Formats: sequence, structure tokens, C-alpha cells
Amino acid sequence: MAHADDGTGAARGAWEARARKVLEGGGHDVDLGVQVARDAQRVTAGELEEGAFRERYQHTYMREFGVDDRPRLADGLARPARPGADSAGPREAEGAGTPEATVVLSRRAALGRLGAAAAGVLFFGELFRRGAFGAEPAGDTSAAPAGPGGGVAAPGQALPAQYGMVIDLERCDGCLECVMACKEENGLSDGVLWPYVFAYAEPEDVDPRFLVRVCQHCTRAPCVMVCPTAARHRRLADGLVLSDYDVCIGCRYCQVACPYGVNYFQWGDPETYGGGFDGPRRDTRGVAVTGDPPKGVMGKCTFCPLRQEDPQRQGTAACVDACSMDALHIGDLNDPDSPPRRYLAKCKEEAGGNVPTFRLLEDMGTEPNVIYIGQPPSPRAELVDGPWTYADWGLIEDRRTVLEGPKPWFRRMLEQEA
Ligand code: SF4
Repeated sequence: MAHADDGTGAARGAWEARARKVLEGGGHDVDLGVQVARDAQRVTAGELEEGAFRERYQHTYMREFGVDDRPRLADGLARPARPGADSAGPREAEGAGTPEATVVLSRRAALGRLGAAAAGVLFFGELFRRGAFGAEPAGDTSAAPAGPGGGVAAPGQALPAQYGMVIDLERCDGCLECVMACKEENGLSDGVLWPYVFAYAEPEDVDPRFLVRVCQHCTRAPCVMVCPTAARHRRLADGLVLSDYDVCIGCRYCQVACPYGVNYFQWGDPETYGGGFDGPRRDTRGVAVTGDPPKGVMGKCTFCPLRQEDPQRQGTAACVDACSMDALHIGDLNDPDSPPRRYLAKCKEEAGGNVPTFRLLEDMGTEPNVIYIGQPPSPRAELVDGPWTYADWGLIEDRRTVLEGPKPWFRRMLEQEA
């Protein structure tokens, strides 16, 4: 167990304070949201049985929401199958999984980073601080169950598709083209940055390094585990974690359960905030999963799910297409012939052996499906200015300036609802 005097208690308190702030004014039980988010992270960390987790909140969920459709890990965190849905079959997984060793970015290291993060720039600290608090120490992470895409399958074992990304941080030059392309393709509201690029430096660095944050499309996603309506779910055909915009009730529990800080709530009509999406929203299941979400609904990076269903555009994404440095690669991590697996193999061959890879906060047991090539930031890393600013692209980095403006967002919202 962690002790307050080692810093973990303080980080936990800070997380809880922020979680409460996120949930307040949302019209749902704040205590419940904080507790269920924390316990979902304990489930992924292997500290709490999923059965106990489900039982603990069943009654309160029914009381609060009148429904408890939380998906189960055993069902792949997907909603019950519908006729004709999720019909992609398993594929042979010879040599499947990603053989490169992964580096665990530990919560203790993250706590060190917390002290180093610049006070005014929250995202970087947010990501690691949340992870730092996320769960009690998980112990031996090698005991965490291997998931599709992340583990090494036994020869001949069939694994379903698991889409993910390989991001080569050694190629990223911080140009922010990926951020801009995502905003344009999805019609995102101002201040909503589904991909976000952190510029940081180690003490010895002259030039900045970069960390591209996207939704990690976790195999064991705490955001899915807390969703009362199963709006947040994994698409079984490819393992993408998506939100059903028709079903989301905007409780925001997913936002506090996610340790990566990738969720953005749509506070008002998208057009009010410079957003709005008029492209096709529904995937082949008929579920509305893409584009800037409507008012009152949670959105996040989707990995362009309509493209992944289209044989002509599979293995592409707006951010991937835009990256002139060839740093982003999307596809089925369980398929050795997919773009990310081929890219990893090429890097390995060019390096004459192995390449350093890591996944973010892997010790939390979320089984993230984004593999980074390069070294993770050390606890001494600090945020710095990149070569391009968000303002250079006409992007707004601090969402509060959009939401609050001359009047606080909550006042405008109250006036609209009156
Ligand atoms: Fe869910 Fe994405 Fe956060 Fe993982 S990174 S918990 S899939 S929102």
C-alpha cells in the first residue's frame, strides 16, 4: 500500500480534487463517479476482482441511472452482439503480438515528473499525475494478462484483430500537422485536441523531444468499465474503443476513469465553439461513432473507425496521412503484415536487432494499444516550447479560453437552458 508520506497520497488527493471538479455540475453523483473510476483502475491493475467491482456498484448505478449496462472484460468490453454486427472472424496469429520488449513508465517515475512539470501546462502533468495516482502500486506487471495486440501469442493461437498505433518518436518533429488534420477531418470544436503533442526536454537536451498523445484504445479500458449505458465500448471487429453518440448520457465518468486524459466533453452546440461535423457518422453496425460529438456527449480520438471498415482506406487515419515524417502507423497489431507491424520489423532490421519501445503507464494494466518507438520521458523531463505552437496553426491550446470566454461556460449554459 502507498503511504501519504511518499507522495502517493498527495497525488491521489490531487487527482480526486480534479476528478470532482470534472464531475461537478454534471447532474450525476460525484462521489459515485470518483469511487467507480478509482475502482475500475484497481480492476485493471489486478487489485480488485471484476465481479466484486460489478456487484459493488450495481445497486447505486440502478438508483443513479436506472440502468447498469457496464460491459464485462470477459466479453471484450463490447456491448452484446447485434445481428450482423462485429462479424470479423479471428485470424491466424503466427508470430502475432509485438515481440519488442516494452518499458514500463512507472508511477513512481511519474510522481517525480509531477514535481518537474511547469505549473501552467497541465496536460503533460495531467497524463502522468493521473497515472501516478491511478491505482495503488500494482506490483509485478509481468503478471498482467496479455491482451490482443500487446502479448505474444502461442504458435497457432487465433487472436482477433486489435487495431493500434506505432508512433516513432525518433521521427516526430513536433510540427502539429497531425493535430490540425484531425481537427479538420472531424470538425472538432476549438480547444478540443484529440491528438496532442507534448514538447519536452531532458536536462541535457538542446533540442526538444516530442510525445504524441492519442487515445490508447486500451484492451482493458477503465473508461469502458464505468460507462452505465455501454455508450463507451470496444468494437469487437477491430478492438477500437468508441463512444456511441446516441447512447452517451454525458455523465463524464469515463473522463475521470481514463488515466491518459484524452476525453473532451461537448459542453454546448459544436457550432458555438467553432466545431461541427457533417460527414458520415455511423459505422457498418449503424452506431454513431465519429466526428465532433453533439452537445452533452463525450468525445475522444477514435482512430478514424469508418476508414478502418473501408477496404480502400483501412490502415489510414487523418493524422497518419498528414504526418510528413512517417512517424504514425495504424493497423492491426495482431497482423504481422499490418502497417505498424511492418514498420516495427523494418526498424528492427535497420537497427540490426531490437528497437526501444514503450507503452504509456503500462503498469496500470490497461493494456494500451499504442506502441512508442524511442525512450520514454525520464522523471527529470520538463515541458518546453516546441518549434511550432498551436497558435501557429490557428489552434487553441487552452480550452478554458473557449469555454469560459467573457462569461463562464456554466453561466452561458444556464442561460441557454433557461
Ligand atoms: Fe479509454 Fe482511450 Fe482512456 Fe484507454 S486511453 S481509458 S481507451 S479513453
